[in-house]
Amino acid sequence: MTPEKCYQQCIHADCRATFGVDQVLVACPRCGDLLDVVYDWSKVAVPAKLAVFAARWASRDNPLDFSGVWRFRELLDFCDDRHRVTLGEGQTLLQRNDRLAPYVGVKPGGLYLQYEGLNPSGSFKDNGMAAAFSHARMVGATRVACASTGNTSASLALYAAHCGTRAVVFVGSGRIAFGKLAQALEYGARTLQIAGDFDACMRRVKEATARCGLYLVNSVNPFRLEGQKTIMYRVLEGLGWQVPDWVVAPGGNLGNSSAFGKAFAELKELGLIDRVPRLAVINATGADTLDRLVNEKKLTWNGGHYDRQAIADDWAWQDATGRRPHTIASAIEIARPVNAAKCLRALAVCDGVVRSVSDADILNARAQVGRCGLGCEPASAASVAGAKLLVAQGVIDPAARVVCVLTGHPLKDPDAAVGYHTGQYPKGKEVPGERLYANMPIPVADDIDAICAAVEREA
Ligand SMILES: *Cc1c(COP(=O)(O)O)cnc(C)c1O
Ligand SMILES: [Zn+2]
Repeated sequence: MTPEKCYQQCIHADCRATFGVDQVLVACPRCGDLLDVVYDWSKVAVPAKLAVFAARWASRDNPLDFSGVWRFRELLDFCDDRHRVTLGEGQTLLQRNDRLAPYVGVKPGGLYLQYEGLNPSGSFKDNGMAAAFSHARMVGATRVACASTGNTSASLALYAAHCGTRAVVFVGSGRIAFGKLAQALEYGARTLQIAGDFDACMRRVKEATARCGLYLVNSVNPFRLEGQKTIMYRVLEGLGWQVPDWVVAPGGNLGNSSAFGKAFAELKELGLIDRVPRLAVINATGADTLDRLVNEKKLTWNGGHYDRQAIADDWAWQDATGRRPHTIASAIEIARPVNAAKCLRALAVCDGVVRSVSDADILNARAQVGRCGLGCEPASAASVAGAKLLVAQGVIDPAARVVCVLTGHPLKDPDAAVGYHTGQYPKGKEVPGERLYANMPIPVADDIDAICAAVEREA
């Protein structure tokens, strides 16, 4: 078969089966592995220079040019313009943050925060959802579903509301952050609270997809990951098309890190960049599957011949030992990351490393991000805590240019923030460890002398 301009392909080197982009698949029908969207670049009109993409941003009257996803459309050219869905996603910020740099341990001028909390639903997921909904429209899907720790459901619900598509979201009972649940309900998604954790929801939504004919937008959907590549295009754009030394991202289901690796591999192949950055993927210690697979079990991509059995064995070991993920960073509270294999590939492409950070480190880092002027939800701060750890370990050079991806908005999880500052966590969210930057509210009598005394008091 002659490949088209764009097709789906199984990632495993022993299989490599190809399928058309008009097919709706969440796994390779032949071997069950993950699928990629692959382009025949000789058939795509990719601009010779990345700067062409930035120039489009000025034309605010064309929603596709204004979108932080679709102004890069030649780099994810799997559908026609008439299918492309946009809500104005990707108007995000790469902020040089000299105040946070000393906390991380890099020199002022070296630390950048890619703030994806500015997306329409408040997390990076909107980048992926714009792409997934475009594919859904292309194939005529009418009911869209996901399993979610929260942000995927918020994003799905918003895009479904925008497109007039029916939405069903599967969330684990009691685990979802309040801001995210509020969004799913507010945007009108049918919200199923499954009695189980995220991994249980993921299993069930896959079964339901097959049985009830739902279009699945979890990150096993390869079209969704195409949208998330653009986060890295915007990082490069924010740096004047220079490549940073490090990109540091939290790792949950590992869709983002996988998409970042694919983005850099493709840009390099196209000759649009001359080197790739190094990638650090940061787990929470309570959900550290990738860390274990890479650092203990020494799993590698191995040119696509990665050890599938080792991953299956780890899942079986989790079952046998009754191991359950637990972290306050609910967005990365995932023990069976569906994109583990693609993440191994990204680590190979970007000479990557994996680390875990504790909940206490995550929350202290999150409080620092807040004090230094942006704020983020707990999972996002794993990137900052991870960068700090890697500098301390001598892996990241203090003189390096480091980009930490802030994946979600601070208001997504107000319980975690108020809990940290007051010490009064909601049940099940207590976090051990020192709250180094707690900012306690001060009770004051309704009395002007007492108020002025409180205003003047030394911190
Ligand atoms: C989904 C999510 C993550 C995890 O991203 P993966 O692509 O699943 O690794 C991290 N942070 C936030 C805020 C998220 O919503
Ligand atoms: Zn296959």
